[in-house]
Amino acid sequence: MSSSTTVTLLPGDGIGPEVTQAARRIIEAVGVPIVWEVCEAGEKVFKKGISSGLPQDTLDSIARNRVALKGPLQTPVGYGEKSANVTLRKHFETFGNIRPIRHMPGIQTPYKDRPIDFVVVRENVEDLYAGVEYRDTPGVSKALKLISRRGSEKIARLAFEVARSEGRKSVHVVSKANILKFTEGLFKKVAEEVAKDYPEIELFHVLVDNCAHQLVKRPEQFEVLLTTNMNGDILSDLGSALIGGLGLAPGANIGSEVSIFEAVHGSAPKYAGKNSINPVAVVLSSTMMLRFLGFVEEANKIDQAIAYTFSKGILTRDLAASEDRAVSTTVLTDHIIQNLGQSPDGWEPHDFKSLQVPQKLENGPQEEQRIVGLDVYLRSSQSTDELGKKLDELTREKPYHLSMMSSRGMKIYPHVQVPSERVDHARCRFTMRDPQAPFELKHIEDLIALLHREGYMWAALQKIATFDGERGYTLAQGE
Ligand code: NAD
Repeated sequence: MSSSTTVTLLPGDGIGPEVTQAARRIIEAVGVPIVWEVCEAGEKVFKKGISSGLPQDTLDSIARNRVALKGPLQTPVGYGEKSANVTLRKHFETFGNIRPIRHMPGIQTPYKDRPIDFVVVRENVEDLYAGVEYRDTPGVSKALKLISRRGSEKIARLAFEVARSEGRKSVHVVSKANILKFTEGLFKKVAEEVAKDYPEIELFHVLVDNCAHQLVKRPEQFEVLLTTNMNGDILSDLGSALIGGLGLAPGANIGSEVSIFEAVHGSAPKYAGKNSINPVAVVLSSTMMLRFLGFVEEANKIDQAIAYTFSKGILTRDLAASEDRAVSTTVLTDHIIQNLGQSPDGWEPHDFKSLQVPQKLENGPQEEQRIVGLDVYLRSSQSTDELGKKLDELTREKPYHLSMMSSRGMKIYPHVQVPSERVDHARCRFTMRDPQAPFELKHIEDLIALLHREGYMWAALQKIATFDGERGYTLAQGE
């Protein structure tokens, strides 16, 4: 590609301006014709009273250019509640977070010289990080773990596309599907369906706890880890520690319309303006961006110059054996620029092909949903037995009945062998006496009116349903 490309540059907060400046200098030195549109975001913007930390000009620039390189953003205490980083991911629906983790020569870690080379492909907008939380009662708070079929399909396709573009042979889908059958289970199932479209790539499943264990024990076995949002957040930090820390961990937030490239690390305010931090994580993020834009050769040249510079022992404070042997941010950048064209022994870039980003997908098959009951979360100071018996009595003449109560997922009523402790949040499951009869709106209205009349405080309601005859809710432990 020879014509120039315009990219939005968000220098960011703390160490952000220093690290993004390093990336900019190196890209200019390698000769990629990028026009940078520099925009504000983060701390300064919050302090101007813009509660998102993102001015409209910045959002417009990213939407227009569709590609941004971003320094870390911080939310100053007392201004705005939501992080501008998360807002950006949600605003542009950058559904996929790609975090490559690869050893570099010359870095001293317990894993030195081991061929660690994998990519974490993490779903970036759903899961617990959708941030939907409630305090149901004084004693109990909850968060919703939202996993969609469409979101899972998009990220699974992205993981396979990443594998394909880097010539990798396997993908491990990481889940906790053994416990969370409807959320993590859906994520795993969709990955298995998508795998059929990529016959040259083998799909394995690994439970997240075992994955953490295996990453410490034998990280070389992994090529691509496909994960839900929170699992990926944790595992990718673990992964970056294996290869030398946050100073070496790049990332990309990929969307169908817009992609934003940024290091994993934050603004490290303690080191801001000290010319001492490691710019490589953001430089590696910028080479991911160059490849994405089609400048593959130039990106590879920069990666090799970094690896070569490290192999000669030129390291910043976070990686150097001692403080007096460390070089500054700008000196490391100078060395990388001087070393463009050099390649270290035994460290080659992958044979990168262009990445095909999955586009918007349809919702999954339409299944017949049949409401079979209602879970009512009650706050009550009655003992479990008193509450259960009272609810039994109140519904004696009704077509529905209390089929069970549980506390934090554990059945507590009726017929419990070992009574467990109950918190101020009892889930009361009402179902039809005749299992073939539907649980209709009139039953819901009747039940709620009944509870109100009796002075019960209900905190939340959840319809329970079957989909094409299959149960769409879990049973309580012991049910
Ligand atoms: P941090 O990543 O800024 O720092 C954690 C540790 O890693 C510190 O010891 C720091 O000195 C070190 N470190 C980080 N980057 C480094 C680099 N390039 N070279 C050498 N050492 C480096 O995390 P934090 O302290 O938890 O967060 C500071 C601020 O950054 C917070 O306001 C947080 O919200 C924000 N943050 C932003 C992003 C983002 O923009 N994507 C990500 C994480 C944190």
